[in-house]
Amino acid sequence: MKKIIICNWKLNGNKKFIKKYIKILKKNNKLYNNYIICISPPIIYMDYTSKLIKNTNILLTSQNVDIHLKGSFTGEISAKMLKNINTKYIIIGHSERRLYHKENNNILLKKIIITKKLNITPIICIGENINDYNLKNSKKICKKQLKYFIKKKGIKILKNIIIAYEPIWSIGTGKNASIKHINKINKYIKKYINNKYKNINKKFKIIYGGSVNKNNAKEILKQKNIDGLLIGKSSLNIKEFLKIIKNINT
Ligand code: PEP
Repeated sequence: MKKIIICNWKLNGNKKFIKKYIKILKKNNKLYNNYIICISPPIIYMDYTSKLIKNTNILLTSQNVDIHLKGSFTGEISAKMLKNINTKYIIIGHSERRLYHKENNNILLKKIIITKKLNITPIICIGENINDYNLKNSKKICKKQLKYFIKKKGIKILKNIIIAYEPIWSIGTGKNASIKHINKINKYIKKYINNKYKNINKKFKIIYGGSVNKNNAKEILKQKNIDGLLIGKSSLNIKEFLKIIKNINT
């Protein structure tokens, strides 16, 4: 199973940046033959990016989706529209959306359902804050976040999805979680899901996000329980990102 690397550009970039970035990425395509590489630009540049990556092995990811497919919902983007421009993954439940946009579990569940309905893969972000980390509550919090979805829709809701373990305290802070900690949590989540649904492990990935950079990516990615990386800041600089890709190949 190929490991996946998702570049989350958040609210950054413009057409010039994207054109140059994709051009360099395409030139270096031999470096990521063994990985699935995904770009997640701001929604307004999704279509533009989609055209630039056509006929490459770079895949398109959305940072968001609405809970409706169409209708009077000003400012929203539907899964159908995203599908239309060849979106393969949608990030759901990023801590920034939970915090700044007050997205609760009920909203997130609707987003997961609508994403799956359109055969797009949800990337469900979970993770604890610094207080819970210090109180050694990481496992408990991650389990609670997933349990809500399982309780409402059954374990099959987690079939064919990606879980991104992203400790909130490590996002954008320069403090990545230790390998020991990530392994512990990812292993725990895999076990938790597998105990509920035998063999589902072959159908879902669990990745890590939080201050991944050229110095730590290789070590994190080589762990058995880590199926990929979600990268914010370090994916914004193509030189840095290429260093990450070069390093994980060595
Ligand atoms: C993220 O926003 O999902 C993320 C992991 O950001 P960073 O890599 O900047 O910590």
